[in-house]
Amino acid sequence: MPRFHRRRLSVAGLAPLAGLLGSFAAAPASATHSWAGMHWARSSTLAIRLGDNVTTVWDPYLATASIDWTKAIRIDTLVALGTRSPSSCSPTYGRVEVCNYNYGVTGWLGIASVWTQYGHIVQGTVKLNDTYFASLSYNTPAWRRYVVCQEIGHTFGLDHQDENHSNLNLGSCMDYTSDPSGLKGTNGTKSNEHPNAHDYDELNLIYAHVDGWQLSSTRASVGATFGNLLAGREGASADPALAQPGPADLKSLGRVAAVDSKGRGRVFVRQLGGGTEVTTFVLWAEPLDH
Ligand SMILES: [Zn+2]
Ligand SMILES: [Zn+2]
Repeated sequence: MPRFHRRRLSVAGLAPLAGLLGSFAAAPASATHSWAGMHWARSSTLAIRLGDNVTTVWDPYLATASIDWTKAIRIDTLVALGTRSPSSCSPTYGRVEVCNYNYGVTGWLGIASVWTQYGHIVQGTVKLNDTYFASLSYNTPAWRRYVVCQEIGHTFGLDHQDENHSNLNLGSCMDYTSDPSGLKGTNGTKSNEHPNAHDYDELNLIYAHVDGWQLSSTRASVGATFGNLLAGREGASADPALAQPGPADLKSLGRVAAVDSKGRGRVFVRQLGGGTEVTTFVLWAEPLDH
């Protein structure tokens, strides 16, 4: 099912930041799995730091996801030293923080939270729930690759290509599945452990335009001190105004913006004021047969 932007970006609130925003342009209408057109602003190729707050068991999967997403033409990713406590996984302005932890029996395998200011992504977090990855069902390289790939994909503004767990794998980590390896025979034979061509095509559309500005922490070369484009907050601890809602408390994630096939919220949007929103993508664990 083609999916177009679910929300219109309000232009009324853009005036104060007009200078910063430059040539704002909405994502193209042909986009099929962009979420609300949200994207990192860019004036050249993005170099998005993925803060490594994961344990050694996750490091190879984070590295693979970084290499995979760097194949997107206008996005490079770099695994960077993480300084966050994995339990809270607090965000860093201008980066994506990736964390794993025993978050408990929350029902979710992974969560990606994406902060936007007037539609432009400014920071993101990815949480991988070891409570489930320690279980027989999910403690496989395929599940780890699939989930970390998908959650990082959300932090670039991608939604899912498909949300049916039972149909044939599309060969994309942005496609729900019960068998990310494609080896069990339940979802065809394609692997959903990596992005596919359609994901890169989608990113090409989302990032086709140039904004005329870019967070300096997303530039290829970041000096010893981070830039001060937006009130000196880049690279610093999260602004209290951008504090992250607790993932265990779904109500704190804001309104349900999309539900899955079982009627569970899968995307939540919380308004923080000042043009800032947090969009949270929740990947629920499913009962699996063995
Ligand atoms: Zn833009
Ligand atoms: Zn997802």
